[in-house]
Amino acid sequence: MWLDECPSFWDEGRVRPLVTESGKVVLMCDSCCAVWPTLSDFKEMEHVEPDEPDWAVAAGVHVRPGTFRWASERDLEVAGMSGLAWRS
Ligand SMILES: [Zn+2]
Repeated sequence: MWLDECPSFWDEGRVRPLVTESGKVVLMCDSCCAVWPTLSDFKEMEHVEPDEPDWAVAAGVHVRPGTFRWASERDLEVAGMSGLAWRS
């Protein structure tokens, strides 16, 4: 499932929802790994680039490799994000 094409002009990735270890759903590009902590951040093109060692996205939220998974439709429902124009 993906929401939009990566806004970076040099990248052809897709922006996908993922579930972090804390349970919070964030948006991440599947190519360049830019992360948008919230939908508002995506709309405002305010991305973060998580990196070692803490892979922090926001307070209490990280995307350390191996700790997150791509979100399912159910995850989006729980997160209150199921009303968006998801593409598959
Ligand atoms: Zn990207």
